[in-house]
Amino acid sequence: MQEFRIQKGDVKVIRKALLKRDKGVCAECREKTGMWDADHVTAVVNGGGGCALDGYQTLCVECHKKKTKLDLQERDQRRTAP
Ligand SMILES: [Zn+2]
Repeated sequence: MQEFRIQKGDVKVIRKALLKRDKGVCAECREKTGMWDADHVTAVVNGGGGCALDGYQTLCVECHKKKTKLDLQERDQRRTAP
């Protein structure tokens, strides 16, 4: 049941499950933080939507910002590719 709700993108369930797994430690900089986001390892814009908990990671707000920027760049590059 929990797996289904994660795949559906239920943020509350995802955050709870991530906190249990990662304990609020950022996957990028390894800082333990109270301010973190549930991040798609493969961004939704790059086809990572609807994934199980394996497809998520804990990222602090700063690292999440940086990654989102890169994810969008990746998407844009694909769009402009011949
Ligand atoms: Zn971080």
